[in-house]
Amino acid sequence: MESAYTQASRKLHQIREKNQLEHQRRVNEVRSLNEDYSRIEQAMAIQGSMIAKRILEGNSTVDDIATTIKKLQKERSALLKALHLPETYLDDIYSCKACRDTGFTETGDRCQCLKKLIEESTLANANLTDFMAEQTFDRFDFSLFAGQPAGENGHQPLALMKHAYEKGLQFAETFDTTHANLLLVGPAGTGKTFLSGCIANYVLARGKSVYYQTAFTLFDMLEKLKFGKLSGEELEQAEGISRYLYDVDLLIIDDVGTEYVSGYSAAAMFDLINTRLMRSKSVILSSNLTLQALEQVYSHRLFSRIMGGYTVIPFIGKDLRMKDLKFDF
Ligand SMILES: [Zn+2]
Repeated sequence: MESAYTQASRKLHQIREKNQLEHQRRVNEVRSLNEDYSRIEQAMAIQGSMIAKRILEGNSTVDDIATTIKKLQKERSALLKALHLPETYLDDIYSCKACRDTGFTETGDRCQCLKKLIEESTLANANLTDFMAEQTFDRFDFSLFAGQPAGENGHQPLALMKHAYEKGLQFAETFDTTHANLLLVGPAGTGKTFLSGCIANYVLARGKSVYYQTAFTLFDMLEKLKFGKLSGEELEQAEGISRYLYDVDLLIIDDVGTEYVSGYSAAAMFDLINTRLMRSKSVILSSNLTLQALEQVYSHRLFSRIMGGYTVIPFIGKDLRMKDLKFDF
C-alpha cells in the first residue's frame, strides 16, 4: 500500500487535472460561442510577449502595453457579459484557493486541504470495520463488568477491565516512543476487539498509521500471494498490503491462533513479528486461545519471541456480545 502522503498527493494531482480540463472546456465553449474571443486571446498573448521582450532589452517602460491589455480585458468582460456568463468564468480554477491546489502554502507549510486528504487516506488504510471505527475510550462502560463472577484464578472482570483500559490508553499515548507491543488474551466477546478499536482510533487521531486485519484473512492473503494464486487488482492490493505490514506505525492482528496454521503461515507470522520487533514497530495481537494453547499452535521460537517482547493483557467475563450492549464488539 502506498503511504497516505503519496495517496493524498495523487488525489491533489487529480484535482488539478480536473480543474484544468474544466478551464479548457470553458475556453473552448466561449471560443465556439463568439468568434471574436480568439482574436482577443491572440492579442493578449502578443502583448504578453511584448512585455517579456522589453524587459529582456532592459526597457522598463511598459505603460502603453498595460493600457492595451486593460482595453482587451474590458473587451473580454463585455463579451462574457453578452453571453450571460460571469466575469470570472475564464479564470484559472482552484478547488483550494489557499494553496492553488499545490498542497503547500506560500510559507512552504502543508495546506489544510493536503492535511485533510492525508487524514482521509490514513483512515481508509487502517481497514477498521464499521463497528471499530466508532470505538473510543470514552465509550468504555465499566458498569457492564460490575457484578460479574470472578474468573478461575480469582480475577474480577471489573478490575481486569480497568487494568485493560489503563494499559490500552497508556499504549495508545506512548507506543511510538516505548515501542511496546500488546497481546490481548481471553474468551470471545470479552472486549479485546473493542480495546483494539479504541487504541486504533486514538492512534489515528494522533496522526499515526494503523492497519487492522484478522489473522485468518491476513495469512490467507499472504499465502495466496506467495503461491501465485492472485491476479489483477487482488494481486496489486495484496502486494501493497504485504509491504505495508512492515511499514505501518501500528499493526493489529485479531483472532490469532484460530487461523489455519500451515508451514507457510507459521513462517510468515514469525517473520512479521520478528522483523517488527527488530525495527521497533509496535503490534497488537489478540487471541481467544490461552497462552498454553497459543504455544501449541505456533512454534516455541515464535511463542518465546512474543512472550519476550509483548505485554499480556488478560480479559475474562461473559460474552458481552450476547448482552444488550451500549457499544458493539
Ligand atoms: Zn490547499
